[in-house]
Amino acid sequence: MDIYHAIMKEWYWFVIVGAIVSMAFTPTFLKAKCPKCKKRNLRTVDLDQQTRVGIQDREKRAYLTFFRCNSCGARLMRELTAPYEDASDSRWNAAFERALVTIA
Ligand SMILES: [Zn+2]
Repeated sequence: MDIYHAIMKEWYWFVIVGAIVSMAFTPTFLKAKCPKCKKRNLRTVDLDQQTRVGIQDREKRAYLTFFRCNSCGARLMRELTAPYEDASDSRWNAAFERALVTIA
């Protein structure tokens, strides 16, 4: 009975560690799902330092990430893990004009 409990304890930790590891690596394996067309085709838009700082200063939001959907062309952004927000407004043009430079 003691051995059984010891094994269960090991599995418990194995499952927890496995869950944490898979959560950490999931975004690199799965492309994010576009909230507009529901296809997994969102690409992160990388900003150069100047553009990033400019947007941060203007918006007072330090952790914005920008996305473009390769299927429907939607422009999106989100703050950390918050829900996606529409970024089609022209005020975000500075971020997306750089999209051609990056995209992985
Ligand atoms: Zn889309």
